[in-house]
This record gives sequence, C-alpha cells and structure tokens, in this order.
Amino acid sequence: VARCEAEEASTSPKPYVEESRFNWKLFWQFLRPHLLVLGAAIVLALGAALVNVQIPLLLGQLVEIVAKYTREHMGSFMTESQSLSTRLLLLYGIQGLLTFGYLVLLSRIGERMAVDMRRTLFCSLLRQDIAFFDAKKTGQLVSRLTTDVQEFKSSFKLVISQGLRSCTQVAGCLVSLSMLSTRLTLLLMVATPTLMGVGTLMGSALRKLSRQSQEQIARATGVADEALGNVRTVRAFAMEHREEERYGTELEESRCKAEELGRGIALFQGLSNIAFNCMVLGTLFIGGSLVAGQQLTGGDLMSFLVASQTVQRSLANLSILFGQVVRGLSAGARVFEYMTLSPCIPLSGGRCIPKEDLRGAITFQNVSFSYPCRPSFEVLKDFNLTLPPGKIVALVGQSGEGKTTVASLLERFYDPTAGVVLLDGWDLRTLDPSWLRGQVIGFISQEPVLFGTTIMENIRFGKLEASDEEVYAAAQEANAHDFITSFPEGYGTIVGERGATLSGGQKQRLAIARALIKQPTVLVMDEATSALDTESERVVQEALDRASAGHTVLVIAHRLSTVRRAHCIIVMAHGRVWESGTHEELMKKHGLYAELIRRQTLDAPLTSTPP
Ligand code: ADP
Ligand code: MG
Repeated sequence: VARCEAEEASTSPKPYVEESRFNWKLFWQFLRPHLLVLGAAIVLALGAALVNVQIPLLLGQLVEIVAKYTREHMGSFMTESQSLSTRLLLLYGIQGLLTFGYLVLLSRIGERMAVDMRRTLFCSLLRQDIAFFDAKKTGQLVSRLTTDVQEFKSSFKLVISQGLRSCTQVAGCLVSLSMLSTRLTLLLMVATPTLMGVGTLMGSALRKLSRQSQEQIARATGVADEALGNVRTVRAFAMEHREEERYGTELEESRCKAEELGRGIALFQGLSNIAFNCMVLGTLFIGGSLVAGQQLTGGDLMSFLVASQTVQRSLANLSILFGQVVRGLSAGARVFEYMTLSPCIPLSGGRCIPKEDLRGAITFQNVSFSYPCRPSFEVLKDFNLTLPPGKIVALVGQSGEGKTTVASLLERFYDPTAGVVLLDGWDLRTLDPSWLRGQVIGFISQEPVLFGTTIMENIRFGKLEASDEEVYAAAQEANAHDFITSFPEGYGTIVGERGATLSGGQKQRLAIARALIKQPTVLVMDEATSALDTESERVVQEALDRASAGHTVLVIAHRLSTVRRAHCIIVMAHGRVWESGTHEELMKKHGLYAELIRRQTLDAPLTSTPP
C-alpha cells in the first residue's frame, strides 16, 4: 500500500507550477520588426519630457513678473509678459504634439506585437500533443491568448511612455533644481528617497495582493467557462444552482481579495498624499526662510516648487511602473511559455506512401500504452491486432477496456510506450502524421463534433479542396443528402456551435460524410451508433455498411448486433486481446463474447419494449 501511495504522490500534478521565466530572446524577435518605429517613439517621448522640464522654469519667471506688479504698478504687464507667455504657449503646443506622436506610435507597435503574439501562440498551441490538452484546461489556455497578451501589451506601452518620461523628467528637473538652490535640492534628495523606500515596501505588498487577486479571478472564470461550455450537461443534471453556488463562492473569494487590495491601495494613496503635501509645506517653509534671508527670489521658489512636484510625481509613477513591469513580465512569461514548447509528435514531416502502393494493412505489435497524465496505469499491455486490407475487424469489450485508446494510437494522437503500430509494414512514427490523419484514416467518433458554420463547410472539413459535387456525393453515401436538402437553406444551413441545432443521428451522418469525403483507406468507427436511438441507428448503420465496402475498417462497438458481419471480432479485456474469431466461432467457444451477447439479448427486450 505504501508503494502505491508513493507512486500516486509522484505522479499527481504539482499544485503550484513554478512560474516560468520571461523569454527575452523571443520578446526580441517580436520587437525587432518595430525597432524603427520604437526608436521614433522614444525620441518623441524624450522630447516631450525635455519640454516638460523647461515649463517650470518659464512659469517661475512669469510668477516673478506677476510678483513685481503686485509690489509696484509701473509699466505694462502685457508687454513684459508677452514673450514669456508666447514661449510657454508654444512649449505647451509642442508638448501636446509630441505626446500625441509617441502615443500613436506606441499603440501601433503594441497592437501589432499583440497580433503577432496571439497568432504565434495560437499556432503553437494547436500543434501541441493531445497529451498536453489532457493535462490543461481550455479556459487557461484561452486566457493566455486574451488576458495575458493584453496585460503584456499595456505594460509594454506604459513602460516605454511613462518610464521614459518619468526618468527624463526626474533627471532634467534635478538639474534645474540644483541650479535654483543647492541647499533645497539636497534637502529634497534626502527626504524623497526615504519616502520612496517606504512606498516601495508598501508597493511590493500590494503587488503580491494584486497577483493573488488576479489568480482568484482566473479561478472564477474557469468555473464559469466550464459551466457555460457544457451547458447541456449542467441543464440535464439540473446543476444550475450548484454551478451558481460554485461560481458565487469563487466570486466572493475574489471580492475579498480585491477589496483587501482596494483597502491597501487606498491606504497607500492616503499616506502618500499626506507625505506629498508635507513636502510642499516643508519646501515653502524652508524656501520662505531663504527668500526672507534674500538667498532666493520668490519666482525661483515657485519654479522650485513646480519642478520638485514634477520630480515627486515622476518618482511615484516610476514605482507604480515597477509593479506594472513585474506583472507584464509574468504575463509575458505565460504568453511565451508554450511558444517554445515543441510537441513530441510533430504535425507533419516523414514518409508518405504513394496512393497506388497503399494497401491499408494495420498491425499493432506488442503494444503497451499508458496515458502520459497517468503513467502508472497501463491501459494496453502487450496488445496485438491485425487489420487486413479491405476487411472489417470489430473490436468489442466492456467500457473502459481501452478500445478508444486503440483508435487514438492508430490516429497517432499518442505514441505507444512500447511496441509498434505499423501501416503496410511501416512504423507509424516514420510516417507523416498529417498525411496519415488527413488522407489515410477516416475517423468517426461516438460524439461527432461539428463546427459552427454551414453544413457544406462542415463536410468539406474532411478535404478542403473538395468540389461541391464531391460534397454531395459524400453526403449521399452517408445517408445525409435527403435530410440536408429538406432544410430550407439546404447545404447552406448553419449548424449551431458544436452542431447543437441537429439531432444526434443527423450530426453523426454529417460526421460520416466528412470522413468519407477524404476517401480514406482505413476507416475507424468508434461506437459510432451507440449514442443513437434505434431508428437513427438503422439509418446510420446503413450508411456505415455502405461506407465500409472497399476500406480497411475497424469498428469499435458496444452494441454487438452491429458487428456480426465483421470478418473478425476481437474481444478486449484487461488491456489485451482476450479472444478473437468470427461471430459463430466465438459463440461456440462460450467465452467472454458469448457472455456479452447473452447479457445484451437479455437486455434487448427491455429496451425495445414501448413505454
Ligand atoms: P473504452 O473506449 O474501451 O471505453 P478507453 O480507451 O476510452 O476505453 O479508456 C481506457 C482507459 O484509459 C480507461 O481506464 C480510461 O480511464 C483511461 N483513459 C482514457 N482516456 C484517457 C486520457 N486522456 N488520459 C488518461 N486516461 C485515460
Ligand atoms: Mg470508448
């Protein structure tokens, strides 16, 4: 028992995944095409900041003139202040223009990078192994495409615009401050870093809170995503209240976290307001005494005040920005994480057998397999199976014995842990997977998934270059043409998301048409009729029987009535081939198959009795 538990512990996924690092190299690749524009944006932003440094100095001079006129009313204020005012107006205009310019450029870079990143990430996600998706939640993957890219983009823009501006302003204003009054500047340089230190400490606590709050929001979104995505199941089990509660609990939790964060931010703001106001008062007080001692003019004090305010505002901005940088980097790390992840099974590449040489013989040789997310549980053990070309082989067995797993290995959704799967004697691992899936194997599953587009497009999904005539032919072969043409829109009918607007039998027949249009050499049907009622089963079965002719067929069936015609029936149990033979041979054996048949014929009268 102890060993079992140890195994369990080692295979269960870690609750806290280590945060991956930010990939600067990848970031550089996304940034490189925009370097020129970025350079221009930086120049404009620097320009705007330098203009900002000039403004307080001119304002001080203006105040000086005003002060002069409060003392003595001689000469014309207008003429004296005119040139200063025009210069100020000009600077304001230039500052506005530069700001406009660099914001436009930055938004251009940001949006283009976001599109590139989303496209690359989506592309790389679609290429991941099926095992990857077994282990991940769709909602989290989608949020990397949406929220994380968004967050990264806004951080990037903010860092460039605010960061550059704040840094330049701090530097520029410090220079002008020290020119105005060295003594005051020294005082300011002692007081400000002290306050900044306190602020940074508080800020890091706030950032931690903010991260927790974000994670909680993501958890709540996951719950909503799951419930909305599977709304039929939720409805069928009348689980609305439970889901509401579940979502409510998560929301409540995120509210608590967010309110805590809100209180933290409020405290921070309140305290920093007090600090800033005290600094103003202090500067006025000390500066005032300097003015009284005639060491400083009133206008200089005014300039000093405005400039020191600029410095403080810029420093505060920088500290907020620092938090944004951290958040942006972790969002970026999440975006980049899967971009560099390469799947074990590539999408394409490898040998294609020319059409005329392809016979469609499949062999499973001593195949053992366990799912990557549950490595300690072996689903197939030393499994052997042969599908002769052009023959129908049926795979039967109780639920959970690994029948679907066999089909997945054949599609190469996974590679076997041991042993090989061969097509015409070639190891599947040496063949081109996209050729294999796209042209050799036609797969019809128990729950056909259709896409939210027209019937025409859904069937054409099997072969993108198919002509309309080919689509009609495939639909006819799949017993689907008649019901399709009975719709007012015919082949142009839009099926709802996941085919929600069609019946089970209709969906299944579209799925069959979609598989047949490829003209696959090997046809795999995984319990294709088991979800259907008797009437649709008959229609679908008819289509399947017709489709089977001339293909190598693997029929996975739960209902044994559908497999009698098979050339060979394989009974699976405990991950192995338990027995095999034709229907008659197996019945004579009085083994597992005979037992399964006996049980189903016992059940049959019950299920076919009208209510
Ligand atoms: P069948 O189709 O015969 O009902 P499956 O091949 O679907 O059986 O499943 C065989 C076993 O593998 C089951 O015990 C099931 O729990 C497990 N299994 C199926 N799919 C996965 C998966 N994606 N990840 C981990 N285990 C799986
Ligand atoms: Mg199955």
